[in-house]
Amino acid sequence: MSYKVVKFGGSNLQKSTDYTRCADIVLKYKQSCVIVVSAFYQVTDRLNKAALEAADSGHFPETFLRELSDICFEQVQANVKGEEQLRQTNAELQSLLDRLALLFRGIHAISELPRNIHDTILSYGERISALVMKATLTSMNQKASLALPEDFGLITDGEHGVASILLRESAAGTGKYFVEDRHYVVPGFYGISAEGKTTLLGRGGTDYSAAALAYLLNAESLDIWKDVEGFQTGDPRLVKKPRTIDYLCYSEAAELSYFGAKILHPRTVEPLQLRNIPVRIFNIDDPSDTPGTVIHSDTGEELHGPRSITYSRNFSVLKLKGAGIGIKPGILARVAGIMDTAGVNISSVFTSQTAICFLLQGADLKKARKAIKADAPSLISEVETITDIALVALVGEGITKKEGIAARAFQAVAEENINIEIIAAGASTAAVYFVVKESDCDRSVIATHKYFFPECSKHNNTNQHSDLTSVIL
Ligand code: ASP
Ligand code: MG
Repeated sequence: MSYKVVKFGGSNLQKSTDYTRCADIVLKYKQSCVIVVSAFYQVTDRLNKAALEAADSGHFPETFLRELSDICFEQVQANVKGEEQLRQTNAELQSLLDRLALLFRGIHAISELPRNIHDTILSYGERISALVMKATLTSMNQKASLALPEDFGLITDGEHGVASILLRESAAGTGKYFVEDRHYVVPGFYGISAEGKTTLLGRGGTDYSAAALAYLLNAESLDIWKDVEGFQTGDPRLVKKPRTIDYLCYSEAAELSYFGAKILHPRTVEPLQLRNIPVRIFNIDDPSDTPGTVIHSDTGEELHGPRSITYSRNFSVLKLKGAGIGIKPGILARVAGIMDTAGVNISSVFTSQTAICFLLQGADLKKARKAIKADAPSLISEVETITDIALVALVGEGITKKEGIAARAFQAVAEENINIEIIAAGASTAAVYFVVKESDCDRSVIATHKYFFPECSKHNNTNQHSDLTSVIL
């Protein structure tokens, strides 16, 4: 059987009737689809908040559970037709909600949130969403079943919160499970460890689930529906009329996602690249047969400037100081080992004679600092953290090899009297980035975008804090 793999995210599921809207799109494919869904808009955030509160303050989230239950039953009511179908879906939903309440009772009782329970609770957003989507399709006389990662065997490395999907281990089960000429609805965002535990794939992970399924089923393409056209040359909240980019290669999409553009989970392209499967991004508000952005292999076309400029306020720097630290053999490995044990992911490293700077995700900074302080090599005399920074990235395959592009970007920024704190070309050949004070971030993005895309850059209101996350997740 050949299937289309189609993903709908939280941005497609904001109103209760949106399940029917997505199902209408599925029908247009006129073939069997594997539909991978995210949680209803903001449900994951709310589950997370309630779980943390229940463990921390011993507060049982009665109101939250009632509100969630109301939202979900309303969705069933709005999308599911036929008395019997309604009765059955409501019963299935109730049983999911009962299990969720039980998990909350557990953490409330022990005032602790074990990592596997945390992951399990957060996966309920997707579990409920998949149930509603399946019932919606069934109501439209489609043959549709739920396909749960624990049933078909989407196997992960078991790391809670940010698991990796093990493709080889997942292949056998998936191959046997998806065989019928029908739609399958899969809850995204989680897989199962070898011990059978629910493990989340990181925030926004449904893209990654869908990509793994496209790989495992050797799909022709992965279609991702969003509420935007696709990748753009810049953030529309900062630069006026950025262009939608019709074609990106895998490395460009990965770097853009990694450095800030909240369009795709940064790991989405990993499995697809292995089988050269394209990603096609479509806009649900303007559905057409032509995708906004296609992500596929590199065309080898010469690069004249960045394909897109992105930024992130989520990074911070941990600076370790000490005489000769930057040139002392073995120090870097030792410190990197400490970070690894603490579960901190190092985004980049810069060294000088007297300092080593680690670029880290903002959320990891405290953890990293604590681990280093507890186990610091004697050479380190001072540990400094820099938080009020932003990272601006220029992305385009080959950008690090093409002389002049970075220099021109720095010129554009210098003309605005902005001081660049750190310049780096990452390990990839597709990105160059620089770090500025957070207060200079918007102006840096606007200046570089205006320089490389003069036809579309005009200042918007730069005081507006841009936060794509709230729109896309
Ligand atoms: N619902 C999850 C999140 O909000 C996964 C996803 O949306 O892809 O992160
Ligand atoms: Mg999402």
